[in-house]
Amino acid sequence: MTMQPWQEQLQAWLTIYQSYTAKGHVATYIPALAHANPQALGISLYLPDHRLIEAGDTTTLFTMQSVSKVVNFMAACETRGLAKVLENVDVEPTGDSFDSMIRLEIHKPGKPFNPMINAGAITVAALLPGDHEQQKIDHFLTMMERCIGRKPRINPEVYASEMKTAHRNRAIAHYLKGSGYLDAEVEDALNVYVKECAVEVTTRDLAKIGLILAHDGCHPITGERIVTKKTAQVTNSLMLTCGMYNASGKTAAFIGIPAKSGVSGGILASVGRRSPHTSNPFPDGCGIGVYGPAIDEYGNSVAGIALLQQLSEAWDMSIFSS
Ligand code: GLU
Repeated sequence: MTMQPWQEQLQAWLTIYQSYTAKGHVATYIPALAHANPQALGISLYLPDHRLIEAGDTTTLFTMQSVSKVVNFMAACETRGLAKVLENVDVEPTGDSFDSMIRLEIHKPGKPFNPMINAGAITVAALLPGDHEQQKIDHFLTMMERCIGRKPRINPEVYASEMKTAHRNRAIAHYLKGSGYLDAEVEDALNVYVKECAVEVTTRDLAKIGLILAHDGCHPITGERIVTKKTAQVTNSLMLTCGMYNASGKTAAFIGIPAKSGVSGGILASVGRRSPHTSNPFPDGCGIGVYGPAIDEYGNSVAGIALLQQLSEAWDMSIFSS
């Protein structure tokens, strides 16, 4: 079927939700992120037959920030095995802010609650194979390349800007080291984590990763298995329960799509196969990438969330539809 009606519909929604960008603010706590255009908004849907449906700013490069936690987890599971990774990080939501360390102290022995918050992601980054930072980041970049078909760049300005201000993340890394949940030197683990956050992508790239997760970890276009089915299932469930900061419950309830956001305004979402009995026009699933750097008080793109909710409702994309 021609893509035109879907394309036009998406463009019409994007025009409506563009005004929502005025309700948010770009992140400034990492100084280099403040340069983003607060009005930017883009969305890409990638289908398993290679078709793209998209609207708005879909070729703008932005840094992954917390969206990288998804690929960090996939890369660690692929190279070290899911069981080993889960010895070091749990799969429980917290309800605390993404850079909180309160639970590390309260819940002994201090195992981080999940890989979608900073503590868990730093633990997972340290687990990537290699004695040095460079080897670990190479494993992350290799996983990215297998998913998106090109080796992405690390934005040096954003990386340097965050390293200068990463006091909390450095404190978290030291705390993890002290309690035995950091399998690397503190500065190495921090560098790997911050470099991952500074990797540049477009909405198309995020949609490609989402599509792989929607297809049980297989790349539906190349046929290559990227992660095991179990890893893909655990990743999707982590995104659903912990991926959208302290709005993860609301996102699960009202959008119903596993998704991970970042403070740069990116959202990666994975829409698995749906029953042909729903009115979802894409029963073979799709990946979605969104970019809207004006974020809300939780850290999620304001217009991006509104757009995703519109799509989910109109195209019956919730995992709870049957
Ligand atoms: N690099 C950011 C940090 O650790 C990522 C935050 C986010 O996107 O949630 O503060």
